[in-house]
Amino acid sequence: MRSAVLREAGASRPYADSRPLSIETLAVTPPRAGEVGIRIERASLCHSDLSVVNGARPRPLPMALGHEAAGVVESVGLGVKGVAVGDHVVLVFVPSCGGCRECLAGRPALCSRAAEVNGSGDLLHGASVLSDARGARVNHHLGVSAFAEFAVVAAESVVVIDRDVPFDVAAMFGCAALTGMGAVFNTAQMQPGQSVVVFGLGAVGLAAVMAATTVPDATVIAVDPNFDKHGLALRAGADAVTTPEGAAALIAELVPGGIDLAIEAVGNANVMGACLEMLVRGGAVVSVGLPHPVQQLVVPALQFAGSGKRLLGSHMGDAVPDRDIARSIEMWRAGRLPMELLHTDTAAFEDINDGLDALADGRVVRRLFAPNQGTGPH
Ligand code: NAD
Ligand code: ZN
Repeated sequence: MRSAVLREAGASRPYADSRPLSIETLAVTPPRAGEVGIRIERASLCHSDLSVVNGARPRPLPMALGHEAAGVVESVGLGVKGVAVGDHVVLVFVPSCGGCRECLAGRPALCSRAAEVNGSGDLLHGASVLSDARGARVNHHLGVSAFAEFAVVAAESVVVIDRDVPFDVAAMFGCAALTGMGAVFNTAQMQPGQSVVVFGLGAVGLAAVMAATTVPDATVIAVDPNFDKHGLALRAGADAVTTPEGAAALIAELVPGGIDLAIEAVGNANVMGACLEMLVRGGAVVSVGLPHPVQQLVVPALQFAGSGKRLLGSHMGDAVPDRDIARSIEMWRAGRLPMELLHTDTAAFEDINDGLDALADGRVVRRLFAPNQGTGPH
C-alpha cells in the first residue's frame, strides 16, 4: 500500500521543496487478534502531524504519519467484537486498553498503555505491522498511520459511525472535534452563562468555539493573529473576534472582571501565561495546544491559591470516544456543530508536503486527502 512516511524530522521550509514526507510502498500484515484493517477514505492534516515533521513532537522514525481519518472496515482479526466488515469508522488516536488505572478510573483518553505504545510506534496488541521496501520496520503514528491507502489498527482505535455521515466530516471527528469539544464539555465542564476565550483558531480551537456557542447564554471570544480565521470563528458562532494583542482589552470591555474560561489551542507557553492573567477569580485555563517539550511556563504562583484560578490539562478532550463521537454526530445532524467550516479543501495525496506548508502558514484549517483516489504508482 502507498503510505506517507517521515524518515527525518526538522526539514527546511518550504516543505513542498524539502519533501519530508515521501509516498512509499509499505507492506502491512493482516489484522492480528484484536485488530481491524481499514480502507482509508479521508485523512486530514492536523497540527500534531506538523509537530512530528518539524521536530516539536519527537517520535521514533521512520514513521507512517496521520491520525485524523475515517474509513471502511475491510478485515477483522480474531476476537474483535462490535466492529464488522463494511462498518464505517472514525479513527481515534488513543487506543484505550480498558484495564489500566486511568481507564478503570473512567478516563480512557489518559490510558497509560496507549501512551506507551503510541510513544514507541507500536499497536495496542503487538509490535508495528508496517515495513518498508527493504523489509525494515516503520513505526505507527498514534496507533493509526492514516496517510495511507490502508491501516491495520487495534479495534480500540476505531469508533463505528452511521453510514450516512460523509467521510469528509467524519474524518475530523476523531481528533479536532473530540479534542476541541471535549475541552469545553469534559475538561472545563462549561456552565450556562459562562464566558470563554479561545486562543488559536485552527480546527481544534474552532471546534471549541462551536461547542461553547451551544452553551446557553455563553459569551464566546475567539483570538487568532490570522485575520482569515476571524470570519470562520464568527460563522462558527463566536460573539467577538480579535488578535492576541487586542484580547485583554476586548475581554475587559465584554466581560469586566475577567473571563471564566480560557482555552489555549495554540501550543505556546506564553499564550498559556497570558490566558491565566485574563481569568476572573476562580476561572480556569484549559491547556489543549501541545508546546515544544523544552518550553517552560513561569507564572505568578500566588494566583492559584490566592484567587482560586485553575490550570487544566486536556488530552484528547478528556473524551470517552464512543460516547463523545456519537454526541458530536448528533450535534452535527442538528446543525449545532457546523464541521464543514473546518474542511478547507481536499488535495491530491501526492501533494501532502504542500499541505504541511498550507497548515503551517495558516492557509487552511483542515486539508483532507483521499489516499485511495491518488494517481501515483500502486
Ligand atoms: P492549527 O495550526 O490549525 O491552528 C493553530 C492556530 O493558532 C492558527 O490559526 C494560528 O494562527 C494560531 N495562533 C498562533 N499563534 C497564536 C497566538 N499567539 N494567539 C492565538 N492564536 C495563535 O492547529 P490545530 O490542528 O488546530 O491544533 C492546535 C493545537 O492543538 C496544536 O498544538 C496541536 O498539536 C494541539 N492538539 C492537541 C491535542 C490534545 O489532545 N491536547 C489534540 C490535537 C491537537
Ligand atoms: Zn490531531
